[in-house]
Amino acid sequence: MGQLLSKSSKPARRTLPHKTEGDITDSASDLGHPTAPALGLPVLKKAKGHYWYPVDGPKILDACGGAAVACLGHGRRDVVKAINSQLTQYTYASYAHFKTTPVQELSDWLIKSTDGKMQKVYIMSSGSETIEAALKLALEYFLWTAQPTRTNFIAREQSYHGTTLGSLSVSGHVARRAPFTPLLQPAHFHRISACNPYRQRLPCAAGDGEETDASFVARKVAELEAAFARLGPDTVAAVVLEPVVGAALGCVPAPRGYLAAVRAVCDRHGALLILDEVMCGMGRTGVLHAWQGGGEDAAVVPDLQAVAKGFAGGYQPGSALLVGGRVAGVMEREGRTFTHGHTYQNHPVVAAAALAVQRAVEREGLLGNVRVQGELLGRLLRERLGGHPNVGDIRGKGMFWGVEFVKDKGTKEPFQPGLGVAERVHKTAVREFKVLVYHGQGCAGNGRGDHIMIMPAYTITAKLVEEIVERVASAVEEVFGRPW
Ligand code: PLP
Repeated sequence: MGQLLSKSSKPARRTLPHKTEGDITDSASDLGHPTAPALGLPVLKKAKGHYWYPVDGPKILDACGGAAVACLGHGRRDVVKAINSQLTQYTYASYAHFKTTPVQELSDWLIKSTDGKMQKVYIMSSGSETIEAALKLALEYFLWTAQPTRTNFIAREQSYHGTTLGSLSVSGHVARRAPFTPLLQPAHFHRISACNPYRQRLPCAAGDGEETDASFVARKVAELEAAFARLGPDTVAAVVLEPVVGAALGCVPAPRGYLAAVRAVCDRHGALLILDEVMCGMGRTGVLHAWQGGGEDAAVVPDLQAVAKGFAGGYQPGSALLVGGRVAGVMEREGRTFTHGHTYQNHPVVAAAALAVQRAVEREGLLGNVRVQGELLGRLLRERLGGHPNVGDIRGKGMFWGVEFVKDKGTKEPFQPGLGVAERVHKTAVREFKVLVYHGQGCAGNGRGDHIMIMPAYTITAKLVEEIVERVASAVEEVFGRPW
């Protein structure tokens, strides 16, 4: 069970990231920010399609789109053309003074993509900004609706929601928080345990197998209920979580029923649900919005939704905050304006890029491809690596798959963080097998647990899926097959 931080909790000790004794180490790229000297980064000449071309050496197969960003692959002419066309009309327009066509069209397109469940859109530049804005909008909404006591947020341990002070305050990432604790807000940001079935499912009482989704979810929901009770239900503004956890755990989908149960708790207590789809959203899992579920998973509509990486596919720094009917309705009816805004908010070139990316995804039926190739990717990863003694878990959805490494498959004991196992796999993959995967370390289990993430572009072919799996599996076998 996660420890709910109360107002009386002692502030976390302030440490430098690499010296943190806490349960999470500061891996080079577990959040998409590789440390250049540590990785000896190649200098890039160009990128096209599914490949990176360094100045020196052979091309590298892109199996992660950076940090799940390049959803359309690199160098698409249609997107570049749309950006150029916008640049020749006007390069910038202040959102306070003008409406612009690309922003209008993109907003309309996004709202339609949610069947009108989300009703308002703010276009920004980064994921952190959208989470920051979501927290502030939640707070302001409760002022507009005369509920000023709602100033608490409940998020989860081993979570990452961004690098700015508000988004870091809500994040349960010990190492990222450690140097900045004096500026974070423990009085308002509380955490329940992560939702990580591989690590947290209990064995059945009968001794055969593990508890069902239903009983696992019931335990998680009881913990959330306890958090509301402890804080006072009318003090909670919102619950914040990723529907499919990205870098913090390594592509971990919520078990069936979890999101709906969290939604029900929020509704029962009048709190908002903020979904962070910065990494898992915009088609990555095979549906445009991860909350739309798909397959046997029912849709669970958030009140506020953050999207980023695959939003503009890396063609521009783009992100968006989507606002659901409950909040947007009050804004509309009462003529409320969000007390918030960035100079580059609703940037027309960002909007033109995002629109071109999203239209290409739609026009080319790429979500269908994500689902089909995603099945293949998952199956091949399991076939090729499932039996490896150091592969503990393979999980994911669509073009969003994580492979977790363990010291002992039976006990699920993770490797010591200092060994940098995931980073070794990453380095070996890129240097020796010329495939780029994303790696993370330290947020799983009891804070330890190495994983790599495989997140190719939505245009991937079956042949390239096979090649990715072959190269990645070879890198894994190489790393674990040689003495350290
Ligand atoms: N939320 C999630 C789930 C993320 O993965 C990230 C970035 O990795 C962020 C928020 C922050 O986004 P950005 O780095 O664009 O500020």
